[in-house]
Amino acid sequence: MRLMDLTDRPTGIIWDVTYACPLRCTHCYSESGRRSPKHVSHADMLRIADALTSLRPFMITLAGGEPLVLQRITEVGEHIAQAGIPVLIYTSGWSLRSSVVPELARVFLQTVVSVDGATADVHDRIRGRAGSFDRAMKALTMLENEAARRAVTGEAPLRYGIDYTVVRSNFRQVEEFCVGIAGRFPHLSSVSFGVAVPSGLANRTSYTEHELLTDAEVDQIDDPALVARLRSLAPNSIEIRTSTNRELQMHPDDIAATPDFRPLQVEPDGQVRAMPIYEGTVGSLLVEDPAVLWNRAQARWHDPFVVDTLRPARTMAEWAAAARRIDQHFGSAESRTRIAQRPAFLPLTPVPVSADSIAG
Ligand code: SF4
Repeated sequence: MRLMDLTDRPTGIIWDVTYACPLRCTHCYSESGRRSPKHVSHADMLRIADALTSLRPFMITLAGGEPLVLQRITEVGEHIAQAGIPVLIYTSGWSLRSSVVPELARVFLQTVVSVDGATADVHDRIRGRAGSFDRAMKALTMLENEAARRAVTGEAPLRYGIDYTVVRSNFRQVEEFCVGIAGRFPHLSSVSFGVAVPSGLANRTSYTEHELLTDAEVDQIDDPALVARLRSLAPNSIEIRTSTNRELQMHPDDIAATPDFRPLQVEPDGQVRAMPIYEGTVGSLLVEDPAVLWNRAQARWHDPFVVDTLRPARTMAEWAAAARRIDQHFGSAESRTRIAQRPAFLPLTPVPVSADSIAG
């Protein structure tokens, strides 16, 4: 295996460990729960983990899909941590069991729960399943209780945070969230408000028209006055962040301007995505040298089709259109079939599917 130049390594790796998920979020970037889970055996997960750690990223995030549906996911996280790479895990909270919480505390640098609204009606509509807000609150309560217990006993602290994906239908609740939700959890470390980007189900034309933030709203998220206001509303102990997530576009000008942003995304079966939010892979970590795959991924960022497609995209609608073109150009035949079968987004989607109608 060729030695990595550490100045050129990926800064952060996101590994979607499964596409299985009990929820049906309207913005899901990975279309999880509506496709084959694609996760591999535990032994192969450890092989993928070894391949990822060989790249010496600053951190690895386990996401999905829902990582906690995999029974031995904390062992995978521990395997990564033992290689000296900090590892985080993202969850909707739906599948969290209390018995797993101490393991999360022991293994992960941070456990992040996704919550997309200050009220159950807004969150559940976005997340596509009745009861998902209550489950997320229950998960946060379990994490809070363990964090509080550890603070008393002096054990290593449990760090946990909230990730809030900002779309039009929950944008107006960000202040309410800082007061009513963040304030409930005294040991909560952080709340991150990140704008939904046009990836996966979120780059459908219908979704772009109705639910992705407008360009003016994206600018508001970046406004220091809003950030200061949110910080003033939340308890001082909680780190409040906002992000436009524009860097995920990987616009050629931004790549040149921000050489320290070098993301890598991996699919459940070890296929390496060339660019995190767009379809298209460059090979499998289970059969090829990770350094070679990383070089191939970076080469895609400068591919003439990618550069020509992304360079004129400045607005959210233009970015979404560019994303659809890249998905069609680089996606596999299987991906293009899946994309063609996506239903249109209905802005007034009534009631999320009932809790009993989906296994998970
Ligand atoms: S919880 Fe995450 S992976 Fe599951 S459907 Fe929602 S966005 Fe997709």
